[in-house]
Amino acid sequence: MHDDDTELSYLDLEVAAQNERREAADHASIRDLSSEVATMAFFVVAAIALALLGPTHIEHPWLLGALTVAFAITSRIGFPIDVAVAIPTQMLLLPLLILGPPALAPILVFLALSVSGLIAATISGGSRKRVLLNGGDALYSLGPATVFVLASSPGLDVRPWTVVAAVAAQIALDAAASWMAERWRTRGETRFPLRPFLLVWVVDTLLTPIGVAAALASEATIWAPLALLPLVVLFALAGAERAKRQEEARQQLRTVTRERTRLRAAVHRIGDAFASTLDLDALLTITTRAAVEAVDADAARASAPTGLGRQMTHRVTIHEDERNTPLLTAVEDRAVNGQTLAHAIVSGVYAMAAPVGDVEAGGVVAVARNSHEFTAEERQLFGYLCEQASVAARNVARHASLHRQALTDDLTGLANHRRFQELVSDGHDRFLETGTRVGLILLDIDDFKAVNDRYGHQVGDQVLRSVAGALRDTCRNTDEPARYGGEELAVVVSDADMHECARLAERMRRAVEEVEVVGPSGEHITVTASFGVALMGETAPDPASLIADADAALYRAKYQGKNCVRLADDGPIAATRTTPSSTA
Ligand code: GH3
Ligand code: MG
Ligand code: MG
Repeated sequence: MHDDDTELSYLDLEVAAQNERREAADHASIRDLSSEVATMAFFVVAAIALALLGPTHIEHPWLLGALTVAFAITSRIGFPIDVAVAIPTQMLLLPLLILGPPALAPILVFLALSVSGLIAATISGGSRKRVLLNGGDALYSLGPATVFVLASSPGLDVRPWTVVAAVAAQIALDAAASWMAERWRTRGETRFPLRPFLLVWVVDTLLTPIGVAAALASEATIWAPLALLPLVVLFALAGAERAKRQEEARQQLRTVTRERTRLRAAVHRIGDAFASTLDLDALLTITTRAAVEAVDADAARASAPTGLGRQMTHRVTIHEDERNTPLLTAVEDRAVNGQTLAHAIVSGVYAMAAPVGDVEAGGVVAVARNSHEFTAEERQLFGYLCEQASVAARNVARHASLHRQALTDDLTGLANHRRFQELVSDGHDRFLETGTRVGLILLDIDDFKAVNDRYGHQVGDQVLRSVAGALRDTCRNTDEPARYGGEELAVVVSDADMHECARLAERMRRAVEEVEVVGPSGEHITVTASFGVALMGETAPDPASLIADADAALYRAKYQGKNCVRLADDGPIAATRTTPSSTA
């Protein structure tokens, strides 16, 4: 019920957030639209007023038509400059103002922009409705047109100051209209983007003389202004080229950003893995995989010392074959012998290796590549990776050592009581899961109190240590002898029946008899121990009853004369008895 409530409220929140976003978008588009409609309305009123005000006699209708078409074509050309895209229509605006009646120029500009916009929208499948609101884009032409009308500039006799004033009026009107529209659209929240506008105005100003020159050239040849069209084509080609370059640069930037993000994620992943792993094999696996990726290796391996002999064994191998194996072994050996970053080349295969942690408590990672040598940078990266892994490996070793300490008895070095309970419990799990037989041998040193009393506690400790050593030497490699408490020791025997356990216990009994400790005055101190053996099964289905069974058998061994082995199922075995003694 409670969960449902929470889920519902999350859902509500999500829906509310969606609605809010949608409303904000609607609002934005309503504001956009309203500003466009207002600008359009202003433009229509102003353009019509100007047309009514000024003379509208058209001297060269065909030329004016051609210029309008040229204007429409030119309006589709974008030339990227810095953060702006300049459109070179200014070259054609001036011939329109000079050669046509300037009072009609804004309407012609509007027509040109609308027609070209409509065609473009049809081709690209864009919105055609918006194109009809192009008044905003044509608005700027009202400025110079008004100046030309007011100056009643007589065509080709245009005065330089009229042109200067016209350009100034154009920029002023564009600035005012754009600023107002931007303020309205963003509710005055954003700053006006001055830089792109400045760039566009500079371009317009620079193109103005070309437009004037082209218009004046019509005195010689009426169609001269159309000579601007090749220039427009040149702009188009250069613009397309620039746009392509910019897109390529943007693409490259995106690739670099993506690569960097990927690398950063990989580094974090490795860092996290290094920090969190407390298992040497897992650490070596992560390091080896990361090394292969980092230096683009073809094969790799990680080795670490194993067992009592601390023999190097492979823990991870990646794509090893007969070509790279000898080389991997060679560099690995060098790293084991203390070389921090060993590398070698044999018949076209390149390999390098580095230690991870202290070799005795860590391992060695080696990588090989068939194609080409590792660069200095790759070697450095590999070395860095192994160094970082070394920090983690030392943590692993420290943790393992602490773990061992927590489970080891200080005096005897055997497993402590806690570990003993763990061993019995693990045996019980195995017994339940796979039916593996689990036996328990419990032993108690006979008359140990007397040893303490006669030779002192320290000698008693020494005897205890020696008995523990004898037990360790006698039991199987797979079994872990423990100190059950005081001078009682125990061995959990895995996968053996009662008979095998009894034989093992008997061997231990004899080994204890053999123990000899030299006392403070040179006495040869020997001891014996009594043994109780039990097997997990019907009568001892759990750890507690197994221990109780072994204890009861041990008690019987004590009762029946000590220095003997007694089984929980009552079969007496080897009842030899020797009293603990010392010989001076
Ligand atoms: P029993 O044959 O019946 O076992 O006789 P016992 O003297 O060994 O009797 P018991 O097992 O009851 O006595 C245990 C003695 O072992 C008492 C204690 O002083 C001694 N002991 C227990 N732990 C240690 C130890 O860590 N060091 C030494 N030196 N003596 C210990
Ligand atoms: Mg005891
Ligand atoms: Mg005892």
